[in-house]
Amino acid sequence: MTIMITGGTGQLGNLIIANLLVRVPATEIIAGVRNGGMSATLKALKDQGGEVRCIDYDRPETLQKAFAGVNKLLLISSSHTDDTVRLTQHTSVINAAKNAGVEHILYTSFAFPQTSLKGSSSVHRFTEQVIFDSVMKYTILRNGLYIDFVNVLGLQEAIQSGVLTTSAGDWRFNAVTRSDLARAIANVLAEKGHEQRIYELAAPKTWNFADLAEVLTALADKPVMHIEDVSVQHWIYPFLSSIDTGSTSKDLEQLMGKPITSLEESIAPFLN
Ligand code: NDP
Repeated sequence: MTIMITGGTGQLGNLIIANLLVRVPATEIIAGVRNGGMSATLKALKDQGGEVRCIDYDRPETLQKAFAGVNKLLLISSSHTDDTVRLTQHTSVINAAKNAGVEHILYTSFAFPQTSLKGSSSVHRFTEQVIFDSVMKYTILRNGLYIDFVNVLGLQEAIQSGVLTTSAGDWRFNAVTRSDLARAIANVLAEKGHEQRIYELAAPKTWNFADLAEVLTALADKPVMHIEDVSVQHWIYPFLSSIDTGSTSKDLEQLMGKPITSLEESIAPFLN
């Protein structure tokens, strides 16, 4: 069994490879990287007999060669900012994988596309469709919103002032950490099965800004209250409104085999 992970230099890809290294022999793992950048995880992979191959979604000539002998391919969605470009890139990867004889393709999509605004996750829906049409075996890993979005909410300022001010609204969040996603995805890659499955890798329970203020209070050991202010303007709010942050799923915890990271532990890295 040979498992390839694209985006091996990225944050999620790197964590997935680190998790996979403790689940399967390194000789069965291939990291796909666009440039030569080497993280400690990729060095460990190579030292243990794993491979690093060049993959550039924009250069189809790199793809089929890179996929030779690969049984399972995890396509990590492109980080390009233009969705039209992303779809072209994803389609190139899927076509090359099919032509190279990849048996099973796995794709990191976005959670709950049916209940998100149409434009916001269309690149993922279209990519999923290209995968279904390819007739390769597939697993769709619909990742929830990364918890990192809290970084733009002014958490440090909230602790200093004792007030977390957010835009008004009925906000609820199913956000997750990359570490939890990586653990679940590595388990899917390491295990037999999971073909023709779609997983919603979001939190099993939502939290809101009042919960966040409570957690800040506990972490800072001083009171932080939450207030809503209709005049708060930030690009994050229209983005959050465009996706489904309120639906929940047990898939992530089931695939992880343990509870997801608590809100307190998840936001702690953003307070340094
Ligand atoms: P990163 O930006 O850390 O990593 C993206 C990876 O994709 C990098 O390894 C990058 O390579 C690689 N990549 C980008 N363009 C190409 C290309 N043309 N050819 C080959 N590889 C390419 O993102 P994360 O790991 O944090 O997240 C993974 C994906 O999740 C993102 O790419 C994005 O699609 C999606 N995402 C999901 C969010 C969510 O809330 N669920 C939020 C933000 C993004 P290189 O190192 O060479 O740049």
